[in-house]
Amino acid sequence: MNTKQLRKILKELKNELEIPEDEKIHIILRPMKTKAASISLKNGTIRLNKNLIKKLDEECIKYLILHELIHYKLRSTNHNGNFQKQLCNKIKETKIREIENKIITNLLELYRIF
Ligand SMILES: [Zn+2]
Repeated sequence: MNTKQLRKILKELKNELEIPEDEKIHIILRPMKTKAASISLKNGTIRLNKNLIKKLDEECIKYLILHELIHYKLRSTNHNGNFQKQLCNKIKETKIREIENKIITNLLELYRIF
């Protein structure tokens, strides 16, 4: 997954969530200790775990970006009812669990926690 592909996914997901195109959101790749991704609501920067991304399939990467964009849209980093509602509008709940399990498994493997 290269930067161009990531930007394309970002653009598509912004459209899906009806975030105006002129709202600047950037993706940066950084090695991260424990997280898969994060977002700064202040400057609209999504950080993706550089080492993890290499191991994930497109579905998981899309999920990570979608997840952070919903935080951005709601201007909140918590995972309350409203967050869950927005997420489940886009992906089925069973699918979300499946993707999250894949991401966590890869994250644990990456840092050899087990
Ligand atoms: Zn989150």
